[in-house]
Amino acid sequence: MAKSLLIHAHAKINLYLNVTGKRPDGFHNLQTVFHSIQLHDDVILRPLARQEILIRCDHPLVPCDTRNLGYQAAQLLMNHTGIMCGVEISIKKRIPVAAGLAGGSADAAAVLWGMNQLFKFGLTHTDLMCLGLQLGADVPFCLLGGAALGRGVGEILTALPPLKKAHILLANPGIEVRTSSVFQHLHFALTNTSPDDIILRGCLENGDQRGVAENMYNCLEVPVFLKFPDVESLKYKLARCDGSYGALMSGSGATVFSIMRDAASARQATSKLCDRLTFCTTTHTSNASLSTA
Ligand code: ATP
Repeated sequence: MAKSLLIHAHAKINLYLNVTGKRPDGFHNLQTVFHSIQLHDDVILRPLARQEILIRCDHPLVPCDTRNLGYQAAQLLMNHTGIMCGVEISIKKRIPVAAGLAGGSADAAAVLWGMNQLFKFGLTHTDLMCLGLQLGADVPFCLLGGAALGRGVGEILTALPPLKKAHILLANPGIEVRTSSVFQHLHFALTNTSPDDIILRGCLENGDQRGVAENMYNCLEVPVFLKFPDVESLKYKLARCDGSYGALMSGSGATVFSIMRDAASARQATSKLCDRLTFCTTTHTSNASLSTA
């Protein structure tokens, strides 16, 4: 058995997100286009002889106990396989927390995928995605990676051609948004004029970064911008930067991103905007959500 495994657990952005209805089970049906980005947490897994799960994380807002999604992923896999040993999980957070970038889901996906390798469980990717869905709607995509259309709660995935290294500027005004409260305040009447995602998907197929940026959409901007006007003004600051093809809020926010013409304009925009922001960085699209270092 390998001694330890270091996994890069990549964040995602949503290039398109529309809520298509509320289901009897209380969840919402979505139509979304996910894309992995290079920004990642480091997740280190180390097998333990005793049947226990130890968790360490360097971020003050992330719990180091059973509430951690990495812990829950390990527990789920241990119950599923019945193994008698344990695992130590160390998480170095780079993805901002509760920011619409699926940081917790990425860590959970890394634990599922990494433990399957480390302990040679022989589970298929589909097995892992089914298990992952029990932890969160974004976990299946965090196992698949690249670009994908998501339906259902986001778990019915169809792979799409990823953008080749599109430069992304990410910014967050330091507001933590609870996904559940955003969905509670979503009024369908306010969002029923949603554009569909056909043009955007066509641009993805053609590798047309400007076209993608010009056709991005997120219906959750309506309730988030109403409650947090700073998120809206940050989005428009990003959109107005030199070299920006277009900007959008990711997931339920509060992170906003812009697809940039090139690395130089991304860097320039960062140095102009970043001073007063809690989180601001440049990254690029990735064709994978999980990788070993
Ligand atoms: P999504 O877009 O899937 O809603 P998010 O990016 O908005 O996710 P996360 O960063 O995943 O949000 O964090 C959501 C909550 O999950 C936080 O309140 C955090 O305390 C908790 N959490 C549990 N485990 C983790 C983890 N490993 N990393 C980050 N947050 C975690």
